[in-house]
Amino acid sequence: MARLTVITGPSGVGKGTLVSRLLERHGQIWLSVSATTRAPRAGEVDGESYFFLSREAFERQVRAGGFLEWAEFAGNLYGTPRRPVEQHLEQGRPVLLEIELEGARQVRRTFPAGFQLFIKPPSFAELERRIRGRGTDSDGAISKRLDRARVELAAEGEFDAVLVNGDLQLALAELERLMQLDARQQKGPPSGRP
Ligand code: 5GP
Repeated sequence: MARLTVITGPSGVGKGTLVSRLLERHGQIWLSVSATTRAPRAGEVDGESYFFLSREAFERQVRAGGFLEWAEFAGNLYGTPRRPVEQHLEQGRPVLLEIELEGARQVRRTFPAGFQLFIKPPSFAELERRIRGRGTDSDGAISKRLDRARVELAAEGEFDAVLVNGDLQLALAELERLMQLDARQQKGPPSGRP
């Protein structure tokens, strides 16, 4: 597989679920933990889901060159800490970034050999249903995310591959194929057949 993979796709498309299933099955992949100025959602743990920073702390890190890329999304700042990505690549670990469009464009310039994958929903109506159904965002945040989703969906042609996330199992198998991962590395329970 490419050593650096970027996964991008509109908010609510199910990137998070897909990525966590991928990591369960392929423990060699290292997922970058981003920094954000967004407030934690219920259940999110600092240092695991994100590094939750104040705007001042985030901007300080920008000025210090600490981010590989960063962008503003729906009113909050998000960035990939540079050093851990470089360290894992130096160690030969495959690195995965799950980031929005502007960040993907920046990484495309720094890592032109990276593999960039776009994940899209079966339809816009389905995406809207998922974002609203999540119940974690205010109406204002939801409409910002839907506006942003339209912009992101228009950019799918910039990516090396596009994956439709309808059925999770099918999407996971397709993701493994695109990332050239061996599906037999699965760590889950045996199928039950003798
Ligand atoms: P959420 O607030 O739903 O966790 O994330 C909002 C968006 O920010 C998602 O599209 C997610 O992929 C993106 N994102 C998360 N971390 C980063 C990052 O480090 N850099 C950039 N550019 N986008 C990020």
